[in-house]
Amino acid sequence: MEYEAVIGLETHVQLKTQSKMWCGCANAFGSDPNTNVCPICLGMPGVLPVPNAEAIRLTALTGYLLNCEIPRFAKFDRKNYFYPDSAKNYQVTQYDKPSTANGWLEFEFDGPGSVDGMARVQITRAHLEEDVGKNSHFDRFSGVDFNRAGVPLLEIVSEPELNGPEMAYAYLRALTDVLFRGGISDCDMEKGMVRCDVNVSVRPKGSTKLGAKIEIKNMNSFSGVRRAAEYEIARQIEVVSQGGKLVQSTRRWDDVAGITEEMRTKEHAHDYRYFPEPDLMPMQPSDDWIAAVRTRLVELPLVRKQRLMRDYQLPAGDAEVFRSNVELGRYF
Ligand code: ADP
Ligand code: ZN
Ligand code: MG
Repeated sequence: MEYEAVIGLETHVQLKTQSKMWCGCANAFGSDPNTNVCPICLGMPGVLPVPNAEAIRLTALTGYLLNCEIPRFAKFDRKNYFYPDSAKNYQVTQYDKPSTANGWLEFEFDGPGSVDGMARVQITRAHLEEDVGKNSHFDRFSGVDFNRAGVPLLEIVSEPELNGPEMAYAYLRALTDVLFRGGISDCDMEKGMVRCDVNVSVRPKGSTKLGAKIEIKNMNSFSGVRRAAEYEIARQIEVVSQGGKLVQSTRRWDDVAGITEEMRTKEHAHDYRYFPEPDLMPMQPSDDWIAAVRTRLVELPLVRKQRLMRDYQLPAGDAEVFRSNVELGRYF
């Protein structure tokens, strides 16, 4: 029997704001540990969050860049869990009423599932949440740096429509290109501004039913995503073709060994006890607010390339140069 892979990506991107999501601390990379912190992002009892207006605008702008609907009602929710990187013991995120939903991303891709060198993937939602701190493990102790805690983070969820590691890679490249060009995020991988959960399943070729979802957590490079997906697809096909059964589970990628390892199965899944964040008002964007956000829309890199080819009969190679080098493109 032949098998095919199904991949869905949850991509976390740090927003390009001056300050954090709920306080005035700097959203900056590379400061000394625990210097960009205050009682709010350290989760002290009794403090109250004040939402970052620019982060909410950038979320809606992302929605428009990704062809999403911007619902006229959205809210924040608490996702409860205990882990040292989150001093509050919950993360504020958006659960059932996200700020954007039902979009799509079209991107260049030459391979299975593409039409004329293009592919399209549905975007389930892009919602706003907060980043957590960073744990570091040393010889004899561990440390937590809360500089990153409370930095605005966008989670962009794709539908399970990517058909392999190459398509996932092309999608990620195109997504970050759009977000970078749109002024949403610097998307600097070296600084951990983009992180990805990779959901992988396999099924008999041609079947429409999804196989058991296996999630590889917290990938921080595109090539890592591609390698992890390649490994995981081969592993899953090996299991099912030998008559084994796959169960919904979470795995981690070991970049040095080049393998994925099981972290937990569905029976041990977290119960996050989501509930509406009582300290924050729901959001009801007005026409004026939406119009102001929309004035910040830019021409997408791919649209720009296609326009240059159409309007000036440029060969694809030349238009590609002007797509990636915006200044040179403007001069042209
Ligand atoms: P939740 O995080 O609430 O469990 P889902 O499991 O529906 O949400 O989706 C999380 C991500 O997993 C999405 O990107 C989705 O496309 C992907 N996904 C869901 N089911 C599968 C599957 N069977 N195979 C591959 N990816 C999947
Ligand atoms: Zn703070
Ligand atoms: Mg997930």
